[in-house]
Amino acid sequence: MTVPFLDLRRQNEELRGELDAVYARVLDSGVFLGGAEVSAFEEELAAWCGAREAVAVASGTDALELALRAVGVGVEPGDEVITAASTCVPTVAAIVAAGGTPVLADIDPVTYTLDLDSVLEACRPRTRALVPVHLYGQCADLGPLLELARDRGLAVVDDAAQAHGAELGGRRVGGLCDATAFSFYPTKNLGALGDGGAVVTDDAGVAARVRRLRSYGEDERYRSIEFGRNSRLDALQAAVLRLKLPRLEGWNERRRELAAGYGRLLAESELTLPTEAPGTRHAWHLYVVRAREREPLRAALATRGIETLVHYPRALHEHPAYGALARPGLERSEELAREALSLPLYPQLEDDEVDRVCAALDEVLV
Ligand SMILES: *Cc1c(COP(=O)(O)O)cnc(C)c1O
Repeated sequence: MTVPFLDLRRQNEELRGELDAVYARVLDSGVFLGGAEVSAFEEELAAWCGAREAVAVASGTDALELALRAVGVGVEPGDEVITAASTCVPTVAAIVAAGGTPVLADIDPVTYTLDLDSVLEACRPRTRALVPVHLYGQCADLGPLLELARDRGLAVVDDAAQAHGAELGGRRVGGLCDATAFSFYPTKNLGALGDGGAVVTDDAGVAARVRRLRSYGEDERYRSIEFGRNSRLDALQAAVLRLKLPRLEGWNERRRELAAGYGRLLAESELTLPTEAPGTRHAWHLYVVRAREREPLRAALATRGIETLVHYPRALHEHPAYGALARPGLERSEELAREALSLPLYPQLEDDEVDRVCAALDEVLV
């Protein structure tokens, strides 16, 4: 019997009857983009985060791009935006799309999020913004980054695509920085049945600007006052997300329980296990261990029916498209790319599946 890395059908089975009712409601409404479902979702998401505003867009990448433009990135050619070398491509693709020039900084060796010293090294006169990534669901150490940003007049837009429900000092991610970008890609902690994203902010000006940018730069219908494009959330996706949002806390609790299970069962192994930084609450989007001999380990697990993935096999500057971003001082990100191994972790995973993953690891690691 295999342990699948992720089986989204289990979540949808749990909600099947209610999902059917949601489709019917949207179909009967005759409204398929924007409208009441989308505005209700925006209000509910903002409230859930404890922030003033949420603006729904078409994807997490769009959320980051439009948030960056809304805080002023791309106004001057050559505006630099610092982010972590340990992230997936969309973080950096969004910076480029916003008209920014990405500059990579290294990660903290324990939290895998932006390292302050590395950010300080990367800061230059043209630096306009910082994009901390709450990688794997671990909240980045925002305090010192926000302080640095205040001192130097930089904007901070956090990439929370993996961190719905992560907390810092008892406050949920979303509204802790100038703007926060969420993704509702189906595999995320809060996932749609397709693409979706949102910008969450306490700044009414930023929210208004994102609303404009997602709709051709229009301040009123058919009057465009700046370059903007279309980036819309489907009413159907909004309605599905509204159904799921009230369950997110429970699902995150279950992720936490499963992560604790891995922690107990693997405590004596040679793997480096993920930890929760003090003063934070991890959203456990992924359970990523580090293994020195990752590839043989993955293969041995696969023959035992245990599916694993790698997030991510390359540091950002190791992608052919982004080689120009390479610079000395990104070694920790490079090492993480060699050693990271994601074990199955999602709310509908069974306890005995965690047991089986750990038993297989036990066998293989000797
Ligand atoms: C998923 C993800 C994104 C992109 O979100 P999309 O909705 O797929 O565009 C950006 N950053 C991180 C860290 C992600 O995990």
